[in-house]
Amino acid sequence: MSSAASILSRLPRGKQYADIKDLLAQLDYLGEEQVNAVYEAYRFGAEAHEGQKRLSGEPYITHPVAVAAILAELRMDHQSLCAALLHDVIEDTGIDKAGIASRFGDDVAEIVDAVSKLDQLKFKSRAEAQAESFRKMLLAVARDIRVILVKLADRLHNMRTLEVMAPEKRARIARETLDIYAPIANRLGIHAVRVELEDLGFRYLYPNRYKVLERNLKKSVGNRRQVVRKILSTVDSALAEAGIDARVSGREKHLYSIYQKMRRKGRSLSEIVDVYGFRIVVDRVDTCYRVLGVVHRLYKPMPGRFKDYIAIPRMNGYQSLHTTLFGPNGIPIEMQIRTEDMDTLAETGVASHWFYKSGEKSGATAHAQAREWLDRMVEMQKTGSSEEFLESVRIDLFPDKVYVFTPKGEIKRLPRGSTAVDFAYAVHTGVGNRCVGAKIDRRPVPLHTMLHNGQTVEIITARGARPNPSWVNFVVTAKARAAIRGYLKKLRHSDAVKLGKRMLGKALTDLSLNIRKVSRNKLKETLAELNLENLEALYAEIGLGHQLAPLIARRLLPDSEDGDGTTDPLGPMAIAGTEGMLVTYAKCCYPVPKDTIMGYLSAGRGLVVHRETCGNLVDYRKQPDKWIAVEWEEGVQREFPVEIRVDVINRMGVLAAVSANIAGSKSNIENVQVVERDGDHSTLTFLIQVTGDEHLRAVLDGIRSMTEVLRVQRVCA
Ligand code: MN
Repeated sequence: MSSAASILSRLPRGKQYADIKDLLAQLDYLGEEQVNAVYEAYRFGAEAHEGQKRLSGEPYITHPVAVAAILAELRMDHQSLCAALLHDVIEDTGIDKAGIASRFGDDVAEIVDAVSKLDQLKFKSRAEAQAESFRKMLLAVARDIRVILVKLADRLHNMRTLEVMAPEKRARIARETLDIYAPIANRLGIHAVRVELEDLGFRYLYPNRYKVLERNLKKSVGNRRQVVRKILSTVDSALAEAGIDARVSGREKHLYSIYQKMRRKGRSLSEIVDVYGFRIVVDRVDTCYRVLGVVHRLYKPMPGRFKDYIAIPRMNGYQSLHTTLFGPNGIPIEMQIRTEDMDTLAETGVASHWFYKSGEKSGATAHAQAREWLDRMVEMQKTGSSEEFLESVRIDLFPDKVYVFTPKGEIKRLPRGSTAVDFAYAVHTGVGNRCVGAKIDRRPVPLHTMLHNGQTVEIITARGARPNPSWVNFVVTAKARAAIRGYLKKLRHSDAVKLGKRMLGKALTDLSLNIRKVSRNKLKETLAELNLENLEALYAEIGLGHQLAPLIARRLLPDSEDGDGTTDPLGPMAIAGTEGMLVTYAKCCYPVPKDTIMGYLSAGRGLVVHRETCGNLVDYRKQPDKWIAVEWEEGVQREFPVEIRVDVINRMGVLAAVSANIAGSKSNIENVQVVERDGDHSTLTFLIQVTGDEHLRAVLDGIRSMTEVLRVQRVCA
């Protein structure tokens, strides 16, 4: 007695068990433990759904059982079957993923969980690109290909029982089936599921066209029966005569493919169905070619119609010999000739990999099996034809992309590792440049948050906001990176122009001149000498520190006044702290407002402000032409970093106490270093933020008043 049969014999009597009995009877390809697990999943699911009914009035569990039965037909493994039986448990009952994992293992729990997540993704727009992206998103969310197979089976059973739904809902689900699920089944090579999904989708989306087509087809089938029977018997006896064992069958085209052919090629129904299709399945590859010889001797082959898909498989791995013959009275006959293995692959595609093979160890993960399927496809393709399809399937199954929704339901495809900022730039460069925050599934998140498949991402923008240079460190898309860099460069350029204009203006004033009074020719001449396009470019050069304002100013003097050396500097240039990127504050001496300062023009970096007492000035003094006299403007309104050193007696919590004291003086600490001098003393070096010299003094005074502090001072470079 088979393992399934032994469980069957123990099952209670009663009509309500008919479904599960049918399912278990299908499982003769599984071992006893596996059949037991399936039965356990059934009982667990039946209990969880107890009292729930389908729209049709049947107990809810009939649906999961039917889904499992579809997968059993594809001879899927017991984990897929268990997951099918439990697939609506998380959604519809109080049981969670952990509850399933503890009873049925992580694999089953993962599949059930992922199927539930797929159900939450909503397909909104009908645009073709959107459908394509949505299919890819489903595959990406699924990760384990068995999730997709369970989902396809779920959809198939829902389509089979769609009749009970309201017409609008039927049409919507049918449309989604045709747009999303049938193409996935096709892509994975699961022919049987694809054909049924398409016919059901067609039937509910276009009920009238379906009816007309079905009626006409039935009529023609009646006429055809005679012909088909005649051809079948002729072929059968010819093969028997040649000593070939074969399964010969007539083949009906499915309605949806006929409908599509009529639409796409503008043909009439009779043109399409008046072709008779037959399939011959044999044991081995060389038998296929022998059969070919037999049928070609029987009926004359149509020139140019023979295709050897055994030697050169189709893109989804399909293998077969195709030939078209002139049958009795010249009617066209299409023949497909293939082996049992090829037939199985043609019908079940990727699912063929979960075929239970006794004696084989089952250590391979589902993912590895999907890979194996792909590898087999690749192997088949080596003979020549396009690898494009495989490439796309490979990307679908092992995606390096994430698919996320905009708040309006549009899908964005981004490289794996993309963040909210990448998303913002993918929506629009302007959105990226002005983004200040993000929400994922309606929850606020930091901008550097990585995105995951299926999330809905919303970007919050603010007028006047600017890209943050630090974004470059975490964005992964070229578009975001280029946009941020470009923006910063532009910003830098406009800052440089502004600064250069001020510096040149000041230098000209020192010579009792202004830019409007400079002669056109003089300006043209100077720009030409410097190889610059226009005045703005000259300003930028000065602002960036590539050109020196006083020298340029002197060049712009009328010739008569050139170089008489009677300049009368009106005083230093004022620094307001708002100049932007081209005025920076030296990190050796950390100048703050009210300090006496000097400006050093550093090529490419603009103006660097130092304290006059800075030790580095000694070196710089060797290039006096690079020095600009600067001074602080009154009432500078921003914070500046400054370094202070505090010598303390070692005591528990002294660092915290000093830090609290600094905070008490309303100063932020940016950084702190602790160096122990000896057992009793330590030196703390803080980098803090102050608004200027008075604020700094207040901070130092505050620290000085602490008993554990020996000495406190500003660090001098
Ligand atoms: Mn379901």
